[in-house]
Amino acid sequence: MITRFAPSLTGYLHLGHVLHMLYVWGMARKMGSNVLCRIEDHDLSRARPEYESAILETMEWLGFVPDLGMSIASATGSSDFRQSDCTNHYQAVLQTLEKRGLVYGCTCSRKEIQQVMSGGTVSSRSADAEEGISRELCYSGTCSEKGLPLEGNTVRFRTLEGETVFQDLKLGEQRQNPRLQCGDFSLRDRNGQWTYQFACVCDDIRHGVDLVIRGEDILFSTARQIQLFKTLEAPVPGYFHHPLILDSTGNKLSKRQRSESITQLREQGASASELIGKAAFLGGLTETEQSLTCSEALLLFDK
Ligand code: GLU
Ligand code: ZN
Repeated sequence: MITRFAPSLTGYLHLGHVLHMLYVWGMARKMGSNVLCRIEDHDLSRARPEYESAILETMEWLGFVPDLGMSIASATGSSDFRQSDCTNHYQAVLQTLEKRGLVYGCTCSRKEIQQVMSGGTVSSRSADAEEGISRELCYSGTCSEKGLPLEGNTVRFRTLEGETVFQDLKLGEQRQNPRLQCGDFSLRDRNGQWTYQFACVCDDIRHGVDLVIRGEDILFSTARQIQLFKTLEAPVPGYFHHPLILDSTGNKLSKRQRSESITQLREQGASASELIGKAAFLGGLTETEQSLTCSEALLLFDK
């Protein structure tokens, strides 16, 4: 079996990632799976390469050693485990979908999609923000029959109709309907940047990942990804979505705040076992806060 740790390069690791790594390495140990490390810098407009070595270094310092893929030792030069080095692969997979008529080009802006969604009127952003609503755009398929070129346009995948049902190994049966959640979602944006959904599935397939362990914040992506696996005639991996560490306002921790980063806490003198113990406690894996080395913490998953 192969599972993976797939950080994006949008910031330093924080305690939420430590909890995530505990789940990935802990469940892998329990289920006899190898852990592969992959760098998800598919979107070059957001990824910052300087985070790569910081992340790999922090993993090593904490004691999380991948069995496969990217590590500090293999991080120089181009890699099959760094998405920005794999655009030819995504291009080839996209071509197979294009030949089968399963993707199309779209010129709609975000605003135009919002307009269609709301029946002509754009709801004011600030009103949404005040109500604390974060609306996901659901694309209605405006361009689906226009035959627009893929190059220079958003590339959209023709989602399948109906519910996708899957058994989450942690949360039980899940039902999601991509057609209603997001509509025909994008695989590449108009600037040529590959999307998370597409790059992630292409990589999970070619890396042979058969167990996906990740935070509940990405749960909503799973049906979309399952549709891609099935369309590409690849086996669908097992899924395990774990709870997150929330901050005092009930939001998930953000990678962009350096103040909360492991790098910073380490500079301030925190030890690896203190931080692992803290993450395990905040994530509900232990009842009291105590220092734990990486291998001690992974034993928690034997229960
Ligand atoms: N790259 C994603 C992230 O850092 C993880 C994606 C996944 O596990 O599917 O949030
Ligand atoms: Zn469109």
